Amino acid sequence: MKYETVVGLEIHAELSTKTKIYCSCENSFGGSENTRCCPVCIGLPGTLPTLNKKVVEYGIKAGLAMNCEIAEYSKQDRKNYFYPDLPKAYQISQFDFPLCEHGFVIIDTENGQKKIGITRIHIEEDAGKFTHDPYRNLSRVDYNRGGVPLIEIVSEPDIRSSAEANAFLEAVRSILKCIGVSDCKMQEGSLRCDVNVSVRPEGQKEFGVRSECKNVNSFSGAVRAIDYERARQIEILESGAEVEQETRRWDDMAGKSFLLRSKEEAHDYRYFPEPDLMPMEISRGWVEEIRESLPELPHEKKARFMAEYGLPEYDSGLISVSDGFSKLLDDTVGCGAAPKEASNWILGEISKEINERCITSDDVPFGGQALAELIALINKGTISGSIAKQIVPDMFESDKSPEEIVKAKGLLQISDEGEIAKIIKEVFEANPKAIEDYKGGKTNVRGFLTGQVMRATKGKANPAVINKQLEIELGKL
Ligand code: ADP
Ligand code: MG
Ligand code: ZN
Repeated sequence: MKYETVVGLEIHAELSTKTKIYCSCENSFGGSENTRCCPVCIGLPGTLPTLNKKVVEYGIKAGLAMNCEIAEYSKQDRKNYFYPDLPKAYQISQFDFPLCEHGFVIIDTENGQKKIGITRIHIEEDAGKFTHDPYRNLSRVDYNRGGVPLIEIVSEPDIRSSAEANAFLEAVRSILKCIGVSDCKMQEGSLRCDVNVSVRPEGQKEFGVRSECKNVNSFSGAVRAIDYERARQIEILESGAEVEQETRRWDDMAGKSFLLRSKEEAHDYRYFPEPDLMPMEISRGWVEEIRESLPELPHEKKARFMAEYGLPEYDSGLISVSDGFSKLLDDTVGCGAAPKEASNWILGEISKEINERCITSDDVPFGGQALAELIALINKGTISGSIAKQIVPDMFESDKSPEEIVKAKGLLQISDEGEIAKIIKEVFEANPKAIEDYKGGKTNVRGFLTGQVMRATKGKANPAVINKQLEIELGKL
C-alpha cells in the first residue's frame, strides 16, 4: 500500500525586541547565567507584568506578512505547568483569542506553488533553560531566557512531505528575517519547532492519528524527524496495529524519536485568562500603519526579479529568500551590471565563498558597487573570468576594490597578440607530441593547447586572443 504523509508545524520564533515581553530586562542571547533577570521575569510573588507594545507590533507584522486576519480583540492566558525552567509555574501565552488567524504562506514545490494555511499566530513568553550536568551530578537553571518574547506560528496540516516542510520553514524564516522581527538564528535557538506527523493510505480522506515531536531545533532535524516518524508509523500500520496519539521527543544525535507521553498522560494546562493583564483592543488604524511599514516581502522580490530583471525563476527564488543577496543584486544592477551576470556571481563564487567561510548571505563584506566593478573589469577585457574568480576571496578579505586587487596582484589580462603568439610558440615547442597529433589530423588537441597557454599565463591570457592566435600559429605548421 502507498501512504501519504501529513504534517503540521508549530514554529516558535524569538522576537528581536530590545527588552523582554513583560519587564525591561535586556533581550539578547548568551551572557553569564542569571544576569538578565528581575523580580518580574523570575516570577517573584507580588510582581506584575507590563506588556511590551513592540511585541504586539511584531506579532501583527508577522501576521500581516503571512496574510492573517488581525484580531480586534485579543487576550493573554496562563498555561499552567510545573517545571524548574518556569518559576511562576505558568507561562503567559494566548489560548482562545490569539493575535492573528486564518493566514497562509506560499511555498515552491516540485509541482509548482502551494499555499500552506496558517491556523494562528500568538504571542507568549519563553521559559528559562534547565540543564543537567551529569559529571557533577547537579542541575542548573538560567533565567536569562525567561520572559523573552516569542511568537508561535501554527500551520494547518497542509504539508505533505518532509521536503514541503523544509520549504515551509525556509519561507517562514525568510519572511521573519525580511520584516525584521526575528533574527532566526537556529544555532542560538531563536527558531524551534514541534513537528506533527501522521500517515494515511493514499486516497483516504480522513487524516491518520498523529504524533507530535518536540525539541526539533534545525530544519534538517525537522526533515529527519518527519521521515523517521513516517517510517515508524507505516511499520506499525503494516503490522496490523494502530498508531497511538502521543508526544515524542526528537533526538537529533540518535536520529530517533522517543515516547514522552501518551494521550492518556497528555498535559492538562488548565488555561485561564491572565488576570494581571488587560485584554487588547487593536485599532484598525494601527494595523494599517503596520501594514504600510512592511518591506517588500520575499515572494514579491522574486516576482520583481523575474519581471524587471528577466532572471530565471530558479535564480529569483534563491536570491529573494535572502535579504543580503537581494540587496546585493539590486545594488549591483543599480551600478550598471547586467542582472543575469550579477546573479551568476552571487549564486556561484560568492555563495561558494560564504559556505567555505561558514558565514551567511547577510555577511558579505562588499556591496553592489564592488561586484559591478568586478563584472565590468571582465567585460572590458581587463581581467579574464578565471582571474575574476581568483579575486573573489580577496574581496572577502580586504576592503580593496576589485581594480585595486587586480593592480596589486599583477593580474591584468594579457590581450597583446604578439605576447600571446610568443607563448603559443613556446607551448608548441614544449609539446611536440601534441603537434604531431595535430598534423596527423587530431584537431581536438586545440583544447589541450589552449589550456597550456592559460597555464603558462596563470589564467591571465585573453581567451579570444588565444583562439585567434592559435588558429594563425597552427595554420603555419
Ligand atoms: P495541540 O494543541 O494539541 O498541539 P492542534 O490541534 O492545535 O493540537 O494541532 C497542532 C498541530 O498539529 C497543527 O500544526 C496541526 O496542523 C497539526 N495536526 C493536526 N492534526 C494532524 C494530523 N492528523 N496529522 C498531522 N498533523 C496534524
Ligand atoms: Mg502542540
Ligand atoms: Zn526581567
